[in-house]
Amino acid sequence: MSRTTEERPRVAPEIKERYEAVIGLEVHAQLKTLTKAFCGCSTRFGDAPNSNTCPVCLGLPGALPVLNRKALDLAIRASLALHCEIHQRSVFARKNYFYPDLPKGYQISMYELPLATKGSLEFELEGAVKRVGITRVHMEEDAAKNLHEGFADSDRWSYIDYNRCGVPLIEIVSEPDIRTPAQAYSYLTTLKQVLEYTEVSDCNMEEGSLRCDANVSVRLRGAPKFGTKVEAKNLNSFRYLQHALEYEIVRQIGVLESGGQIVQETRLWNVAAGRTEQMRSKEFAHDYRYFPDPDLLPLLAPERLVEEVRAEMPELPDVKRARFLREYGITPYDAEVLTATRALADYFEAAVRAGAPAKAAANWISTELLRRLNEAGKEIQDCPVPPVALAELLAKIESAEITAATGKKVFATMFDSGKRAADIISAEGMSQISDAGAIEKIARAVVAKNAENAAKYRAGNEGVFKFFVGQVMKETRGQANPQVVNDVLKRVLAES
Ligand code: ADP
Ligand code: ZN
Ligand code: MG
Repeated sequence: MSRTTEERPRVAPEIKERYEAVIGLEVHAQLKTLTKAFCGCSTRFGDAPNSNTCPVCLGLPGALPVLNRKALDLAIRASLALHCEIHQRSVFARKNYFYPDLPKGYQISMYELPLATKGSLEFELEGAVKRVGITRVHMEEDAAKNLHEGFADSDRWSYIDYNRCGVPLIEIVSEPDIRTPAQAYSYLTTLKQVLEYTEVSDCNMEEGSLRCDANVSVRLRGAPKFGTKVEAKNLNSFRYLQHALEYEIVRQIGVLESGGQIVQETRLWNVAAGRTEQMRSKEFAHDYRYFPDPDLLPLLAPERLVEEVRAEMPELPDVKRARFLREYGITPYDAEVLTATRALADYFEAAVRAGAPAKAAANWISTELLRRLNEAGKEIQDCPVPPVALAELLAKIESAEITAATGKKVFATMFDSGKRAADIISAEGMSQISDAGAIEKIARAVVAKNAENAAKYRAGNEGVFKFFVGQVMKETRGQANPQVVNDVLKRVLAES
């Protein structure tokens, strides 16, 4: 086999240009339920291996599945958020295959009659709106987790943790509408945002609650038919998805250019080697011997139920973005940043509710606050400055009690200590200096010390004025009222 000898493929840019990639993604998202899809076992992550199991999820003879109502609600919610048609009647099917992580010998999934079809997801990329069709959303259960240990043949162990077995998932299959790795990346980002906003899934990729397989083929630009596709698995990060696609596109072009043919197969992204590797030849639907699960009744999702779920649907990201623009008059960029996660958007709105001017709050959150959080490796949920405290700080800047420059220092202390702005300002004597007399004394000293620059200013070099403002600000540790500094300096410099 060519696994170890395969070289990193290369094709000249002008040849790559002649081809177009066609990509479709299959995304599995774990539904945010407390218990499994068909039994009452906990879905908690990180519990002792095999502690969350029962006869149903272990597939013991005679055990019967009962669908988790919450899982159905969340699956419907996701389907609505993806603008799908929801079928009033869908059918659970058995997908048969033999593997240790599947104790029943089949996975409960959906096949011919899935929960929802014909949806779409839109996102913006490089200034254009891209719309990707959603082929289907269906419900299924997760398999167990295999853990392998040791390398030497004589000392190699495999373990199976059945805690994950039977956890509820939805699979979201896209149409082959994606054309570049960057679009695939944006599609997945947007999908994740929608699933998080609607609380369908926590989308934690490290814990495996969001997983993505990518189907990719290439064809000559303008060719009427799609090429043969390859499925890339094990793409458990956004970066891996993009890298695997980039690699795979070049590899396929290389094969075609050298007169070869693409074989339909499943390939695995090898993170360490930075390449896809053959895993197995493609399995086809008929290999799975799908048939309706006789243990489960057809799944009914009548109009009334769908409307109930729709009524409880949280605001979607694009709707929130539009509302932020309209209600708060902030920039499109700020609206984009602030709605990146629902938690950040909530933080912003809480600060505004607490009295912060919307534009100032947007500005401070998207710059100072996000920068500090980023540096501290913290999420907005763990922000040491609550929204009310940010609103208090902004009110002090607004009322000119402190300067914006001092505000930044106060904010840094608030962030590090958790103290309130008022306490920091009085403890450190940071109130704004607006006393023209005090500022004039400092201005005179600065001008005297920089006689050469003062002469330049008087000779008509307006540019040095900024230098003097900076010096006075430095002397006052950024606490001088900028307007007073300007006025005083103009007067002092004009003299003599
Ligand atoms: P399969 O039956 O092999 O699983 P599907 O028709 O279910 O194939 O498609 C699986 C995924 O592959 C979908 O996301 C679909 O958009 C994508 N896909 C289908 N044909 C192609 C192709 N020629 N190139 C790239 N992706 C494709
Ligand atoms: Zn169970
Ligand atoms: Mg498929």
